[in-house]
Amino acid sequence: MDTSAPSNAQNDKSSKPWFKRLSLTTWIFIALILGILAGVALQGSPEIADTYIKPFGTIFLNLIKMIVVPLVLFSIIAGVVSLDDVKKVGAIGGKTVLFYLATTACAVTLGLVFANIMNVGAGYTIPTDDISYEATTPPSLIDTLVNMFPSNFVQPMADATMLQVIVIAVVFGFGMIAAGKKAQPVIAVCNSLSDVCIAIMRGIILVAPLGVFGLICPVIANNGIDVLRPLLWLIVVAYLAMICQIVLVYSGIIKLFARISPLKFLKSELPVMGFAFASASSVGTLPLNMECTEKLGVSKEVTSFVLPLGATINMDGTAIYQGVCAIFIAQVFGFDLSLGQQLTVVMTCLLASIGTAGVPGSGMIMLAMVLTSVGLPVEGVALVAGVDRILDMMRTVVNVTGDAAVATSVDAIQKRKNVRAYTR
Ligand code: ASP
Repeated sequence: MDTSAPSNAQNDKSSKPWFKRLSLTTWIFIALILGILAGVALQGSPEIADTYIKPFGTIFLNLIKMIVVPLVLFSIIAGVVSLDDVKKVGAIGGKTVLFYLATTACAVTLGLVFANIMNVGAGYTIPTDDISYEATTPPSLIDTLVNMFPSNFVQPMADATMLQVIVIAVVFGFGMIAAGKKAQPVIAVCNSLSDVCIAIMRGIILVAPLGVFGLICPVIANNGIDVLRPLLWLIVVAYLAMICQIVLVYSGIIKLFARISPLKFLKSELPVMGFAFASASSVGTLPLNMECTEKLGVSKEVTSFVLPLGATINMDGTAIYQGVCAIFIAQVFGFDLSLGQQLTVVMTCLLASIGTAGVPGSGMIMLAMVLTSVGLPVEGVALVAGVDRILDMMRTVVNVTGDAAVATSVDAIQKRKNVRAYTR
C-alpha cells in the first residue's frame, strides 16, 4: 500500500506557485470583485471600459456561444442514445418538466408575496418626463409550442434557437435507437464529437475569470449609483425574493429528493452563480453548469438533457422578477390587482418565463406580456428598464441554480429507481 501518496500530493500542492493553488471558483470571484471595483473606478469615463475591457467579455461570450450549440446537440444525442430506451427518456423528461413547472410556480408566488408584503412600489413617483415604451408582441403559447418544432435542420443551429436544437437532438437520438445496429457508426461519431465539445468547453472555461472581468466591469461603469437610487426598493425586494427561492425552494428539493446537504450543493454551484451574475445569460453559463453539476456526481445522461432544457425553459429568477415588477408597476400607476388578477399574473409569468430566451435582457421583453394579461400599462416596462441589467444578473443566478437543483434531484430519484429495479 502506498501511504506516501497523500503527503506527495500535499507536497505537490504546496510546491505550486500561489496563483496555481487557487481554484477556478476563487478566481471567478476575484475577477468579479476586481471587475466591480474597476467598474466603480471607471464610472466617470465608461467609454474606457467599453473600448478596452468589454471586448474581452465579448470574445469570451462569443466563444461560449460558438460551442454551446454543438455541445448541446451532441451531448443530448449521446445522452438519449445512452439511455437506450425511449421509455426511460420519457420518464426523465416527464419528471424534469414537472420539477421545472413546480419550482417556477413557487418562484412567482414568492415574488408576489414579497412584493405585496414589502409594498414594492412604496415611495416611487413616476418621473414627470414622458415615459414611452415600444412593446414588441411576445409570441402566444400556441406559437411557442409550434415554434419548438423546426422545419429545417440547419436554421436552428445557425440561429442558436435552443429549444429547436433540443428537439432535433432528441428526435435524432430516438432515430438512432430505432435504427439499432445500423446506427452504430454514427453513434460512435456523436459520442466522440460530444467528448471533443466537452474538451473545448473545458479549455474555454479556464479563461472564465478574464471573461467575467470583461463582462462585469463595463456594466458597473455604465450603471452609476444614480440610476439605482430611485429603484433601490424594487431591487431589494426582488433580490430578497430570489435569495429566498435559492435558500428555501432549491435547498428544500435538494434535501428532500437528492438527499445531500444543500450547503454542499450550493458550494459546488458557486462558480456557476458567479459566472451567471457576470454574464446574465443562462445559455452562456450552460457549459460551466454542466461541468460543475457533473463534478457533484450527477450522471452525464441527466446533465446533458436536463440542463440544456432548463437553460431554455426554466427561468425561476425571471418569473420572480416579472411577478415583482407587475406589482411594482400596478402600485405606482395606482392599479389595485385583485386575487384573481394576481393568479393570472402567476399563470402568465409561468408561461412568459418558459418563453424567455437565456440571453441578457429577454426577461424584460416578456414582462410586457405579463402586464398586458392583467391590463397594466406596458409603458411600465420603461420604468424598470434602467435597472434591468442589475436585476438580470441576479435572476440569471436563480435561473441556473434552479436548473442544477432539478438536475441533481432528478438524477438522485432516477438512481434510486435503478437500484430498486436491480435488487428486485
Ligand atoms: N438573462 C436571463 C437568463 O439568461 C433571462 C432574462 O432576461 O430574464 O437566464
